[in-house]
Amino acid sequence: MTKITVAKGDGIGPEIMDATLKIILAAGAQIEIEEIEVGEKVYLAGNTSGIAKESWDIIRKNKIFLKAPITTPQGGGYKSLNVTTRKFLGLYSNVRPCKSLHPFVKTKHPVMDIVIIRENEEDLYGGIEHQQTDEVVQCLKLISRPGCEKIVRYAFEYAKQYNRKKVTCFTKDNIMKQTDGLFHQVFDEIAKEYPQIENEHWIIDIGAAKMADTPEAFDVIVMPNLYGDVLSDVAAQITGSVGLAGSANIGEECAMFEAIHGSAPKRAGQNSANPSGLLQGAVMMLSHIGQTDVAEKVQNAWLKTIEDGVHTYDIFKEGVSKQKVGTMEFAQAVIDNLGNRPEVLKAVSYAKGTALSLPKYKRKAAAKKELMGVDVFVDWRGTSPDELAYLLKKMELEELKLTMITNRGIKVYPEGFPETFCTDHWRCRFTSNDGNIVSKKNIVQLLSNAITENIDAIKTENLYAFDGKLAFSLGQGQ
Ligand code: NAD
Repeated sequence: MTKITVAKGDGIGPEIMDATLKIILAAGAQIEIEEIEVGEKVYLAGNTSGIAKESWDIIRKNKIFLKAPITTPQGGGYKSLNVTTRKFLGLYSNVRPCKSLHPFVKTKHPVMDIVIIRENEEDLYGGIEHQQTDEVVQCLKLISRPGCEKIVRYAFEYAKQYNRKKVTCFTKDNIMKQTDGLFHQVFDEIAKEYPQIENEHWIIDIGAAKMADTPEAFDVIVMPNLYGDVLSDVAAQITGSVGLAGSANIGEECAMFEAIHGSAPKRAGQNSANPSGLLQGAVMMLSHIGQTDVAEKVQNAWLKTIEDGVHTYDIFKEGVSKQKVGTMEFAQAVIDNLGNRPEVLKAVSYAKGTALSLPKYKRKAAAKKELMGVDVFVDWRGTSPDELAYLLKKMELEELKLTMITNRGIKVYPEGFPETFCTDHWRCRFTSNDGNIVSKKNIVQLLSNAITENIDAIKTENLYAFDGKLAFSLGQGQ
């Protein structure tokens, strides 16, 4: 018997959760349910995180969380409970299988069967944003080596456990050489440890286009957070309906399972929503807690029900579907099919075994870090980069000389183009003339000179080399 935390959520949440629990309990799931309240009511009672402290304690104690969709109220101040839960509990891996159910659910992609593994904690989702000048705002994209290693290893271990043949990595490392570059580099390193699994890398733009057009070319796809967020919805949608896909959020200690869709408030209380997405989340949960026989039984009964043409409104199609049913009738049809297997769709068989749990991450020894210079970001409303360079040169020290100015990344000094459009946000790079190491004291002196010269320095970024390798981007055009 495994104790799990259940939240019925908002909108269609309670209906699809009741349907899901009814099915898995009828299939023999050995679970004890502890229910908590999260979402709209908690938000509106004045708790901006949508969850009470006692509920966190329950989730952390039980470690397994089955969550229905919730409504995040419109308006300022309400934090997304999903993002908070993933990060608080260290649920670094978001697993979203997207498989078409042709010819029973209409799709342009009859042989699609992909699993998107999305990094769940970092990237642009740190929510670290600042307005820096009148004209420019910034969002920090943070990618870590532990984050990359954990998610990439998870993708390969998932492929191994579920007998998948290939893992593809999507990044934009032709542009983001440091952040996406690290993700790609770690992918190449870890892929070597799995010679039995094919691996490949695609630049995200053409990779996404290929996935939307020819999804059968892919198997498991691993990618950073934002790309995974967008593309997993695309992948789910093109299988036939977002209402069919479930998702697992896996961490070293805890795991959360859900549908990928939202709370569909307009459909609430009508017994019409499709419970399949949450049911798919629950099937992944059963596999995760080692009840693979129950997971298999539920999945095959669900496939048989889809195959029987017993469909909720979202996938109902005249000529293909046989019977339009509500949420509870659909659940009952799945229960009636427990023990049956699909005849046209491929029946599943899950190997006996427990959760796919990876060893705890062990930190590597730190590299040798050397300070090579500084980028000083300056707020300046002039338009001539040469004029700005003239002012900046007054700040220079013997050890730190102005070597470059960029505006929105493009080099404008020395030898910029007059055609380049410039904002009021300038990155001004100071390094030693001969590539020597500099000191933080030099940087403090440089900034002090900026004050004396009335230059508005808004932030600095230190320029480092790690183990002798320069670890910062050049100016575009440099
Ligand atoms: P949504 O996913 O709730 O609905 C999008 C469309 O899909 C609607 O037309 C809806 O009727 C349909 N749909 C969704 N699930 C369905 C199902 N199971 N069966 C049949 N049809 C279904 O997205 P939205 O309207 O953008 O968001 C509504 C609320 O859900 C918002 O408050 C949003 O913040 C929240 N949300 C929550 C989660 C979550 O808790 N994981 C995820 C996404 C959105």
